[in-house]
Amino acid sequence: MNPVKVGICGLGTVGCGTVDVLRRNQAEISARAGCDIVISHIGARRDNPKVDTNGLQLSRDIFAVAEDPDIDILVELIGGTTVARELVLKAIAQGKHVVTANKALIAEHGNEIFAAASEKGVSVNFEAAVAGGIPIVKAIREGLAGNRIEWLAGIINGTGNFILTEMRDKGRAFDDVLKEAQQLGYAEADPRFDVEGIDAAHKLAILASLAFGIPLQFDKAYTEGISQISTDDVTYAEELGYRIKHLGLARRTEKGVELRVHPTLIPEKRLLANVNGVMNAVLVKGDAVGPTLYYGAGAGGEPTASAVVADIVDVARTLSAEPMHRVPHLAFQPDALNDTPVLPIGDVVSASYLRISALDKPGVFSKIATILSDADISIEALIQKEPQPGQNHVAVILLTSRCVESNIVDALVKIESLDSVDGKVVRIRVESLDG
Ligand code: NAP
Repeated sequence: MNPVKVGICGLGTVGCGTVDVLRRNQAEISARAGCDIVISHIGARRDNPKVDTNGLQLSRDIFAVAEDPDIDILVELIGGTTVARELVLKAIAQGKHVVTANKALIAEHGNEIFAAASEKGVSVNFEAAVAGGIPIVKAIREGLAGNRIEWLAGIINGTGNFILTEMRDKGRAFDDVLKEAQQLGYAEADPRFDVEGIDAAHKLAILASLAFGIPLQFDKAYTEGISQISTDDVTYAEELGYRIKHLGLARRTEKGVELRVHPTLIPEKRLLANVNGVMNAVLVKGDAVGPTLYYGAGAGGEPTASAVVADIVDVARTLSAEPMHRVPHLAFQPDALNDTPVLPIGDVVSASYLRISALDKPGVFSKIATILSDADISIEALIQKEPQPGQNHVAVILLTSRCVESNIVDALVKIESLDSVDGKVVRIRVESLDG
């Protein structure tokens, strides 16, 4: 078979990693793909001293790669959603297959991109877009194809997990750890993408489509960040036998699909609760297989390149297959996607951790308990702290039963309006994640 010619656009962290891995493992990659895979064109607006581009065709205009008639596969590694969208659509229009690591692009424009690709009979592969080096897209799309997937839950942003791990292990404050994450190059220049859950929501939207056969609906994902988590909450969660993780959760219910990213208490004995530092993990529950866990590096040049190169090999292997015989982009055939709605957060069901600052006097707790009980919410666990010297309020920590979101939100408004309760109640959702 003729060599498969690859054009790589973007020579940053992942671009350099991809060039390195393709060169270093060339022989094994060819043996797996059944043909040689050759980097024949690079699009980069400046040189990167980490990559030797001698002997390669190099264009400062990345669109020249999309227009190069020799290229079979365009690898988009520039990031962002504007130029990247134009570049990918251009490549598709030129009949090229596309491999991308860009979760924002796929989550926000994937429906349009896949439709264009299907029309042209080309593939768009995006393994690296979710959880970096972990082959979770392939696992759901192919390995679990026999299952009805019930739910999945993932730690899919390494920066957020690093921050929560440091807060728990070393008692450090959120702002302090965030600064370190930025210095270490973990956090984006604009850290909101990481800590407010936007990056995780991009990945979750992709996973939910693969799992449930629904179109990509990033705009309907509920996101809540971790910047309001205090070291007190981390400690109290620990006392109750839980860890706080920034979880992306997608669940199929009778009414629709839950799609949410928020801080979550999970029982400390769950493997997912023990995924620490910058590592990622995704737990998927299929009806036949039960729970399965996928763990590994969610970011970094070479781990991400591992997924990019796997996609290149996949495309190379299927070049001779008719488009209809390739694995569909979103796991289900395009005409078999369903319109199960994504539920508004008010309809989601979960248990809650509550931290209430309450006046230290008799009768206060019973008022709180009455409000909860009137809302059909029971108290599963309770910790009441001693008042700090000179303070007349105490921290009351409760774990509640599962209830629909709107019930607990209404109850919290009532609790916060009590004279004996100070300020806002801290609420973190709790998930048991049992199989
Ligand atoms: P990066 O280090 O910032 O590299 C991006 C590269 O693209 C830079 O060299 C940049 O050039 C170049 N670029 C951007 N716009 C361009 C344009 N219009 N024309 C030419 N070159 C352009 O980013 P990265 O970390 O490699 O990430 C690349 C993609 O992989 C992103 O979609 C990201 O979300 C995804 N991803 C990254 C990781 C990771 O660990 N880094 C993990 C999973 C997925 P300049 O230097 O000139 O700006």
